[in-house]
Amino acid sequence: MTLRTIITITLVIAGIAVIFYVGYSLIFKHYRRSNTIERTLAIIKPEAVQAHQTGPIIDRIEQMGFTIIDFRKVHLGKEEAAKFYHEHKNKSFFGDMTQYISSGPIVVMILEKLNAIGDWRDLMGATNPAKAKDGTIRKQFGTNIEKNAVHGSDSQAAAQQEIAFFFADRRK
Ligand code: GDP
Repeated sequence: MTLRTIITITLVIAGIAVIFYVGYSLIFKHYRRSNTIERTLAIIKPEAVQAHQTGPIIDRIEQMGFTIIDFRKVHLGKEEAAKFYHEHKNKSFFGDMTQYISSGPIVVMILEKLNAIGDWRDLMGATNPAKAKDGTIRKQFGTNIEKNAVHGSDSQAAAQQEIAFFFADRRK
């Protein structure tokens, strides 16, 4: 067997391995995305609560197949707001965002469904309502990049922490 043949065979085997790896990863990712029942934290923010948009937003949530596992209306103090948003503490708008989220009552909910974390973020839309897609809650109910109507956890770890933040006293 010549060196050229060995190199060709090696490259073909490597190519097949890469194709299998990529295919398996995509299928596995899809499988995980569509077969994991998750819980996420959703918040209806102060300006939306004040504008009596709680009902219409909850309608959209239920129409999309989320189950509301728990639900409460709270008014955070500024210190609690800073604790909730601690991951953003180095952002230039940290003071504004804690001031805003503590400016009035909010509605916090535990939502459950298959892929709840990603699906709720899809339904919320982009952070800036001006850039959010048609049909998203932020597009419909958001005012600006700060007053954007709703919040959603962005990972499993965040969902667990945020649910514990508001519902630590809840019976499982
Ligand atoms: P989200 O995960 O889509 O909510 O976006 P981020 O995690 O980046 O930001 C958290 C929240 O901070 C947003 O939902 C807004 O309420 C607020 N926020 C984001 N960007 C800005 C900004 O540029 N200025 C101000 N004032 N608030 C912002």
